[in-house]
Amino acid sequence: MKDAAPKTIYLKDYTPFGFTVEEVHLTFDLAPGATRVKSRIRFAPRGGADDRRFFLHGEDLTLIRAAIDGKEVQPTLTAEGLTCDVPDAAFTWEAEVEIDPAGNTALEGLYMSNGMYCTQCEAEGFRKITYYPDRPDVMSTFTVRINGDLPVMLSNGNPVQQGEGWAEWHDPWPKPAYLFALVAGDLVAHSDSFTTCSGKEVDLNLWVRPGDEGKCAWGMEALKKSMRWDEEVYGREYDLEVFNIVAVDDFNMGAMENKGLNIFNSSAVLASPETATDANFERIEAIIAHEYFHNWTGNRITCRDWFQLCLKEGLTVFRDAQFTADMRSEPVKRISDVIDLRARQFPEDNGPLAHPVRPESFQEINNFYTATVYEKGAEVIGMLKRLVGDAAYAEALDLYFARHDGEACTIEDWLRVFEDVTGRDLGQFKRWYSQAGTPRLKVEEDWQDGTYTLTFTQTTPPSAASPEPQPQVIPINLGLLGPNGDEVKETETLEMTEARQAFTFTGLSAKPVPSILRGFSAPVILDRDSSTAERAFLLAHDTDPFNRWEAGGALARATLNAMALEDAAPDAAYLDGMLAVLRDDTLDPAYRALMLALPGQSELAAMQAEAGHTPDPRAIWTACETLRQALAQHAQDTLPRIWETCRIDAPYRPDAEQSGKRALAGAVLSLITRLDGGALAASQYGSADNMTLQVSALSCLLKAGKGQAETAAFYAQWQQDRLVIDKWFMLQVLQAAPETAAATAKTLTEHADFNWKNPNRFRAVLGALTGNHAGFHAADGAGYALLADWLIRLDPVNPQTTARMCAAFQTWRRYDARRQGLIRAQLDRIAAQPGLSRDTTEMITRIQGN
Ligand SMILES: [Zn+2]
Repeated sequence: MKDAAPKTIYLKDYTPFGFTVEEVHLTFDLAPGATRVKSRIRFAPRGGADDRRFFLHGEDLTLIRAAIDGKEVQPTLTAEGLTCDVPDAAFTWEAEVEIDPAGNTALEGLYMSNGMYCTQCEAEGFRKITYYPDRPDVMSTFTVRINGDLPVMLSNGNPVQQGEGWAEWHDPWPKPAYLFALVAGDLVAHSDSFTTCSGKEVDLNLWVRPGDEGKCAWGMEALKKSMRWDEEVYGREYDLEVFNIVAVDDFNMGAMENKGLNIFNSSAVLASPETATDANFERIEAIIAHEYFHNWTGNRITCRDWFQLCLKEGLTVFRDAQFTADMRSEPVKRISDVIDLRARQFPEDNGPLAHPVRPESFQEINNFYTATVYEKGAEVIGMLKRLVGDAAYAEALDLYFARHDGEACTIEDWLRVFEDVTGRDLGQFKRWYSQAGTPRLKVEEDWQDGTYTLTFTQTTPPSAASPEPQPQVIPINLGLLGPNGDEVKETETLEMTEARQAFTFTGLSAKPVPSILRGFSAPVILDRDSSTAERAFLLAHDTDPFNRWEAGGALARATLNAMALEDAAPDAAYLDGMLAVLRDDTLDPAYRALMLALPGQSELAAMQAEAGHTPDPRAIWTACETLRQALAQHAQDTLPRIWETCRIDAPYRPDAEQSGKRALAGAVLSLITRLDGGALAASQYGSADNMTLQVSALSCLLKAGKGQAETAAFYAQWQQDRLVIDKWFMLQVLQAAPETAAATAKTLTEHADFNWKNPNRFRAVLGALTGNHAGFHAADGAGYALLADWLIRLDPVNPQTTARMCAAFQTWRRYDARRQGLIRAQLDRIAAQPGLSRDTTEMITRIQGN
């Protein structure tokens, strides 16, 4: 049980722990329902006022005994930990506790998944393993002995010794407890090795359940590429003799960067061409890189407290994005990231859950592993790099690693290295960390006697988190095009610091067309009334690939809004522009595939609400369907040829070139399916020899209201493969028509394979429902009711996943009074559940906003 009145924790209240921890020894006697954990920890007082008494975190522990310097003590126990009188000099604390891994369904601390012991300690799971100062600024070396009857028993660091029924590990690098990990199970390894830049050999192992050995090669390749890249680009070398990765089926997040022992959701590491799509392969490459890069940005230099989470996550997301751009295509990666930012972070930043990149208070830290902390946090690093330049960025990072290695740091420490290297004052820039909300950038232009002036006005809507937002530093990458389409001014970074600021350009022979915010140089909403003609011009001529894509998106948004709100016909300029893109074989196929995709329906709803309309999800869906149909007809003579050019004869590779072709072929197939009734998709399904082709064909068929036989065949073929069956659940809900989505999801929750306690399976159905915008927001409220039913059921079992999925309700104020009432009723129903978790209580209260 959680406490009845959740406490709010504030950044301003930070105080250091009164003791240093010199070393930690842990012994685990593993047993599913009754694991014993013995700890022996050396503490030394730091000389503060209250160092005669200490507090150690501990939750859901049964204390068997405790001793200080060998003498038994009787600490005072509460639901949150223990307090105990301690000596005024260094001492050794010993404790023995009993825990219940088999009964741990929340998947925090030590738990079991398919007979395997596994841990997840970030953010505050270690306190469910033993009594400890479970805070990131307490760092220590760990020595761990595991006693048990399982063939593979792993912990952090380097192996010391092992024998029949036991194994011992030592991690020489001081680390906070959230990076502790233990794994024990019947596992097999896919092994390899890596020689570091200084010539050290590192053993690499990817541990999986027997039967999954054939799905490890890609993950291992990605790991080696990541290790090399971090040496070459950031000068970071790996620092242990072994690097272990373990795949686990039951996991709340994607993966976890525990020192030397990364633990991965199996969906984020296992892949074979037959069972994983190109998108899965790319995601795996990125997540392996992300967790590996944490070894320096997160582990060697960690966070002082959880308010600084963006220090490790923003930087590491930025680094993994650089890596993916280097491995694949920079514009494609940038566009994909902005699509994701707009879909997930903008709604958060502009709704009741808005919080700064560095929040100033929380009740449950698990609720702050958000798109704002991660993705906006990465955007802030990108802006910083743009403002100081690549050379100064590299110099600042070298200084950061040199100055702070082995420390637990803050955003102030991070910004100071940039100030020291460049001499700049980053005081105003720091508002990106402290202010919530997405800035709007309004643009006015003026052309007089050869002088061109752009005047920008920035405003950030006030929120509960930031009631009086101040002007921010906005790097605006700008280029100018002449009337014939030539670039008359190459990209320059304008630095906006005022609320309203003008930039003047002279020496132009004709009024230029501006290309503003190239590469999406700042995470803002550009508010510019440009004409259809200008958008079509930029779509045809802009030399910046991001802004060329953006111009196509602007055309799409304009026509879709006119269609949904005013019953307008599809815009010919959009259709012609897209046809030209489709036919342009000089463009990267992956880029063309992104061009052909429509803006997200939730994003369109947000835009309409912002413009003072009440969005109708069904009307937005209809507009998207009508526009796709019109594009299919407009391009019908071209589609078969493009389809042919995407044919691949070589063996399957999930690299940028092949996956780009398959992405374009998939986009084209979805248009062809609107013309041929699904004949080509059915034929592709029948002959597909990889999962990408199978999924794209099945998606098209389901979208067309067909594919019953293929859906059944897919299940029969893959029912033994849990990750593929997740796709089977997800596709049926995602592709369902608005009127049937909730009913489809409900039927699937009654399926024998709907193991709702597994977070991947839960998200495959309920997460897909919230991703089907018109289906989730169906007028009868069936989508809302179904999600609420399941959140209520999941909360006592897994609060973290429940709380995260509550965010689907965060946009409720956008919609009409009837939908608002239906959502409010579900929020009230969830809030009224007796014993609701701290995680879910906080989320629901914030979303209700009262
Ligand atoms: Zn991370």
